[in-house]
Amino acid sequence: MKKLVLLFSITIMVCNCGSSQSVSSKSNKSVLTVTDFANTITAEELKTMLYTYASDEFEGRRTGEPGQKKAVNFIKDHYVNEGIPSPIADGDYFQEIPEAFFEGKAKASENVLAYIKGSEKPDEVLIISAHLDHEGIKKGEIYNGADDDGSGTVAILEIAKAFKSAADKGFRPKRSILFLHVTGEELGLFGSQYYADVNPIFPLANTVANLNIDMIGRIDAKHEGNPNYLYLIGSNKLSTELHDLSEAVNQKYVNIEFDYTYNDDNDPNRFYYRSDHYNFAKNNIPVIFYFNGTHADYHKPTDTPDKIEYDLLAKRAQLIFYTAWEIANRDERIKLD
Ligand SMILES: [Zn+2]
Repeated sequence: MKKLVLLFSITIMVCNCGSSQSVSSKSNKSVLTVTDFANTITAEELKTMLYTYASDEFEGRRTGEPGQKKAVNFIKDHYVNEGIPSPIADGDYFQEIPEAFFEGKAKASENVLAYIKGSEKPDEVLIISAHLDHEGIKKGEIYNGADDDGSGTVAILEIAKAFKSAADKGFRPKRSILFLHVTGEELGLFGSQYYADVNPIFPLANTVANLNIDMIGRIDAKHEGNPNYLYLIGSNKLSTELHDLSEAVNQKYVNIEFDYTYNDDNDPNRFYYRSDHYNFAKNNIPVIFYFNGTHADYHKPTDTPDKIEYDLLAKRAQLIFYTAWEIANRDERIKLD
């Protein structure tokens, strides 16, 4: 029953949105659909951004260091250029985190926040997150972090642009969407901990879910020869409804093979605890962690932009866009089990 209802609501929503937020004008007779906006997420744009974001100029983006400052300004400039505002204050996209919070591991740093305000349920917020930092420079070698987590960073920038394009055409999401770029992940999930435990800009009680993206630009050894996959971690741990929605959206629009190997409670890698979604999950907020698995260049200076699978990155980013679209526009808020 749920699956049918869910698929039905997707179709209805498109039409409903169309009716309540008319996107079809009599003159041009064209009807825009969610797929038109998903298709604005392209391999070319992702590649252009990632070659800059993960270039040597950014010096591996170590938390608190000049390269990381370049990273936060790159992200902020994108949102300013796209006309996507900050939820903090006009033109202020940085959530400042004092040096003391990093337990001596880093100088002061900042998260970057931008958001699209919901049209009908603006107080309910979906958070899409990725970490902006990486390993920096070690023994004179730059750790570019193209996959980790340059891929997640540029994916969010494209997803945000797609939602803005939809909003500009009368397709504003019903719920608000927060694009959250966190710092200090490599040092111990500091940026997301600061947001969740010290200063959640939106009350955690109003946070309907977190979609966290960390490394989605490569193929791991297990999937060589079968690259159309993605590991999903956490989707059914707090909300079966979120899990079912994720599955149904994938079947409807993208058809990527979901691998739940690391979703096992006994996963020896403990990946569920090792990225920023965990600071939301621990607060009983339903999460999905999107991940391609580790590979030969993981945490090496060789994790460079030329090794990224851009068509795959675009497809995975589109999947996350469609999933976010459904969560932000469905009538009912995602229920916890
Ligand atoms: Zn990472």
